[in-house]
Amino acid sequence: MLALALREAGAAGVAVRIVATGAWHRPILAEYDPVLRSIAIDSRVVADLRAARGAAFAARFVAFAIWHELHHARFAVRDERAAHAYAMAHTGLDAALFERAVRALRP
Ligand SMILES: [Zn+2]
Repeated sequence: MLALALREAGAAGVAVRIVATGAWHRPILAEYDPVLRSIAIDSRVVADLRAARGAAFAARFVAFAIWHELHHARFAVRDERAAHAYAMAHTGLDAALFERAVRALRP
């Protein structure tokens, strides 16, 4: 699932980086930069999810985040519901699964 998301990003000419994003305010977990054509994913969230829920769960989260941000990259709109729907359609995963997991990290 993650490999497919990364391939899709590559095909769209969008880079994916896992970055230390301590400066971000919650609930931003990933962000698309249209100037750099780059998706940044919060490394701390990925590490925390891996510790709490396992590597496979963390990888699914990253795949979901990539698809979500690819929606922003492709359609150039900040429509969060549409981006979630797009990611759900491509991964078969429910956004609420990750929202709950991330909330559980920092109650
Ligand atoms: Zn978004």
